Amino acid sequence: MPKICCNQNTKALRTFNNLSLCNKFLKTREQKEIKFKLKLSHCRNCGLLQLEKAVQANKIAQQHAWMRYFEPEEHLDDLTQQIKKICKFSNKKTIAGITYKDDTLLKRFRKKLNSKSWRIKPKIDLKIKYDSAASETVLPKINSTNVKKLIRKYGQADLLVGRHILEHAPNTFMFLNQLKKLTKPNGYILFEVPDCTKQIQNNDYTMLWEEHNLYFTPETLENYFASNFPNFELVKLFKYKYPIENALLVLLKRKKVKNIKKNKYKPSRNLKMTDNYIKNFNFVRDSIIKKLIFLKDKYGKIAIFGAGHISIMFINLLNLKKYIDFVVDDNTNKQKHLMPGSKLEIKNSSYLVSNKVKICLMSLNPFIERKVVNKNKVFLKNGGKFISIFPYKKSQSIFGNIKL
Ligand SMILES: [Zn+2]
Repeated sequence: MPKICCNQNTKALRTFNNLSLCNKFLKTREQKEIKFKLKLSHCRNCGLLQLEKAVQANKIAQQHAWMRYFEPEEHLDDLTQQIKKICKFSNKKTIAGITYKDDTLLKRFRKKLNSKSWRIKPKIDLKIKYDSAASETVLPKINSTNVKKLIRKYGQADLLVGRHILEHAPNTFMFLNQLKKLTKPNGYILFEVPDCTKQIQNNDYTMLWEEHNLYFTPETLENYFASNFPNFELVKLFKYKYPIENALLVLLKRKKVKNIKKNKYKPSRNLKMTDNYIKNFNFVRDSIIKKLIFLKDKYGKIAIFGAGHISIMFINLLNLKKYIDFVVDDNTNKQKHLMPGSKLEIKNSSYLVSNKVKICLMSLNPFIERKVVNKNKVFLKNGGKFISIFPYKKSQSIFGNIKL
């Protein structure tokens, strides 16, 4: 069985059993769920924390047309300027994208670089049911047959862009080799991945998700290509700061030369970091459970805001369903469903007030969190408290007082 990262020796770290897929919201309590094992390992060669095995493509494929993921975009204007400077493209270069997450960057390139662009259309190009499909459904279809078709239809790209896809690839080797074909011999590839350093260092387990096969840090990303893909030259690594996950980008250039010596890289710092992350899991889980028991005794019902993979993993991985009464999300499509695994109901935010809830855990990213807090003033006025499930703001976090 090929490893996800680079076909080398991985060390098993921990297995979480009996988990439910985060994109399979349930219509009824009786609905049967596909269960999977999340096996974490790290690679002694490239240092990457990863899933030992990707979940099968047909199991993970998107089933709801209304599912959509949002990635931070504040860095895209600056990035466009940087790429313009580095690549020095003259007029009408072709810049291509892979999923809908690339659209806003392609638009900026068209405007600022005067480029042409194309992006894979899931329905027409790959025979996928929904055009809203994200990486989990699109990536397994990037095979030789489809790549040939794409080249015939659109031509090779001068710059191929892939935001938030590399960490989703079920087999990075095969995936990169297909993407290489989509770029011109001297073309560039630009990947964006989330920087997992902060979560790993702060024991934030909401990072784990069956759709993320690889968990990069700046160091592992920078060295990954040098040690595995010597025919990609690393032109630049970009880092943009965000409250939880920084955005990491690598600009790579295709090289013609064959048989270049692979760089050896010693990932010991990263291996130690991920070892500790896994070692601390039980302590952190038990501390959070103790805290929830205390809050429940004192304040009654506990809700959690946000019905997404972050809250799903938080509840299922830490086994918290008996301490949580319901989930709050203002997405009306989600309200018609139950949470995967825990089968908790998903309610409108007005339920917080009508059910006299005093404690609501917060699983949203800090940008949306601010908006949500403003929209729920009555809840706060009635003595309600939002408590972050992330360890970064100790004062209003479920991690408060957890000491290692
Ligand atoms: Zn590896």
